[in-house]
Amino acid sequence: MPDPVPARVATAACPLCGKPTEARYRPFCSKRCADVDLNRWLGGAYRVPTEEPPPEGYVPEADEER
Ligand SMILES: [Zn+2]
Repeated sequence: MPDPVPARVATAACPLCGKPTEARYRPFCSKRCADVDLNRWLGGAYRVPTEEPPPEGYVPEADEER
């Protein structure tokens, strides 16, 4: 009987540094990486430009019923 494949599926790699993910900080390997990512999100959120107002007469794609 062949040995079962090690359960590597459960172990993901930290998207920031590539180290094995720590369960309590998923999907990151540590609080540090989680904080880095969080700061990226927060920092980026402020840089996202506000949506430009639609041009006059602009109609959202609403009549796709047929
Ligand atoms: Zn990491």
